[in-house]
Amino acid sequence: MILYSRKGEPLVQNSSDEKGKPLHICDRVCWRCGGAGGAEQWRHTGWTCYRCGGSGVDPVRERTKLYTAEQNAKLDAAAEKRAAKKAAARAEADRIEQERRDRERAEIISDNQGFIDRIDAELAHGEIEFLQSVRDRITDQAKEPTDTQVQKVNEIIERNEKERARLAGAQHVGEIKERRVFELTLIHTQTRLISEYPHIYSYWTLFTDENGCKIASKSKPSALGLRLEVPEGGTWDDRCYIKGSKVRVKATVVEHTTDKRGEPVTYINRPKAA
Ligand SMILES: [Zn+2]
Repeated sequence: MILYSRKGEPLVQNSSDEKGKPLHICDRVCWRCGGAGGAEQWRHTGWTCYRCGGSGVDPVRERTKLYTAEQNAKLDAAAEKRAAKKAAARAEADRIEQERRDRERAEIISDNQGFIDRIDAELAHGEIEFLQSVRDRITDQAKEPTDTQVQKVNEIIERNEKERARLAGAQHVGEIKERRVFELTLIHTQTRLISEYPHIYSYWTLFTDENGCKIASKSKPSALGLRLEVPEGGTWDDRCYIKGSKVRVKATVVEHTTDKRGEPVTYINRPKAA
């Protein structure tokens, strides 16, 4: 009768185990020396392999249990059944875990719904990467936002709401040629060298007035009442006109124009500290 290993290799029965079951016993290569019988790196203790004594044949012979084709088929079917059962159990465990995660995610989203709505309302005005990333963290990753994230999101939204309110009320100030007092807050000033010999500078300064309307001037910053100051944490060399500085000047309205965004800008000149 032809018999097989468990892997299906046909082998001759040449022995039996203690229960009388068929075995195929054969020599195998010594695992220590790989069949060489010795090695150069063992030279200092006498080249020869101590496992096989130099023969290259492993002292433990290979014993292969043998089966009939029918036995193998039966064992295969049983193994398949076990594997299928295991796979079904794993699928069920995955399903339960997924359900748990979905529940957790729904809970985190509902806990933070107000915050998410607030972010969405702000994003409706335009893309803000940071806000989007905080929103994704809650809705996609099902993670609570950190205190720092909540604080930063609120700061951004408050700042943008304030800016939108300012923009909504922005208008031209005064009449052309009118001389009046302005209460100004510095946004930005720039000085540009336009000629080396002689030194000639051009100036451009942008403020908001007390109503949030933009006021610009080409007068010297010093004439507008601005002074160079050392910024917080800076040195004498870092002196600049600090954003947010407040000045009160009497000046003449010379032009009503609009900036790139279409926002009204009022130009003034001949400023005098008021
Ligand atoms: Zn050996």
